[in-house]
Amino acid sequence: KEGGLIVSFGEMLIDFVPTVSGVSLAEAPGFLKAPGGAPANVAIAVSRLGGKSAFVGKLGDDEFGHMLAGILKENGVSGEGINFDKGARTALAFKSVHLHVVLYNCAKVFHYGSISLIVEPCRSAHLKAMEVAKDAGALLSYDPNLRLPLWPSPEEAREQIMSIWDKAEVIKLLLVTLGDKGCNYYTKHFHGTIGAFAVKAVDTTGAGDSFVGALLTKLVDDHSVLEDEGKLRELLRFSCACGAITTTKKGAIPALPSVSEVHTFLDA
Ligand code: ADP
Repeated sequence: KEGGLIVSFGEMLIDFVPTVSGVSLAEAPGFLKAPGGAPANVAIAVSRLGGKSAFVGKLGDDEFGHMLAGILKENGVSGEGINFDKGARTALAFKSVHLHVVLYNCAKVFHYGSISLIVEPCRSAHLKAMEVAKDAGALLSYDPNLRLPLWPSPEEAREQIMSIWDKAEVIKLLLVTLGDKGCNYYTKHFHGTIGAFAVKAVDTTGAGDSFVGALLTKLVDDHSVLEDEGKLRELLRFSCACGAITTTKKGAIPALPSVSEVHTFLDA
């Protein structure tokens, strides 16, 4: 695999997705076991697109945990940062609090994707990991996985995001993905919108992770997109294509595209 290492930190879990849509969980006749968890999705998205990625996080030392580790391995993601916890069960949505300093030191990009930055003890673990990676010179990437419905209105969401942006001198690039409306980008020098591709979406799970994976795969070896709007727009178009493709199949990981699938999609 080519390029710098992208280390993705956080949880990996199993989503139980009802086999029939439009029913409550209690009424579902059956469930599909869908491996997921945003940081793990991003690591696999990178690997499918030809990048080098590692996952760091905690899994239960049970059948599900080893199944998930197997999925990472099959997809070419380094799993040396996996910590199997004897006292934990994988089916639950674990928040990782374990550190893997060696991997953070090798990271060219350190990515974490979780709302858990706001709750302890995950918050301290995340911040520590970030510090190690940053000291080693990595580019930091954070996806809070915030959901628009959590806010009273899109205007308020926008206002909140822009107030973070105004305060954060160190942020080089801020992206807000908007589902079938595409994405907005902001840098200190320019901002704009990239429209989404028109597709027949069947399951949008993992679209954001696919988008982030694509972005990081290219960004890891070429930071010039942060200064060059034309290049950035081209990269975001590629990332939006990855997001769009991911919505056309059920589940997150099974729907993450390879480079050739993206090129076929873009050439169509
Ligand atoms: P998240 O999965 O984090 O909620 P989004 O739903 O905003 O993220 O999706 C990320 C990107 O994937 C979007 O910016 C868009 O380019 C693409 N995408 C998501 N949903 C659709 C859709 N229904 N149609 C086309 N593109 C989509």
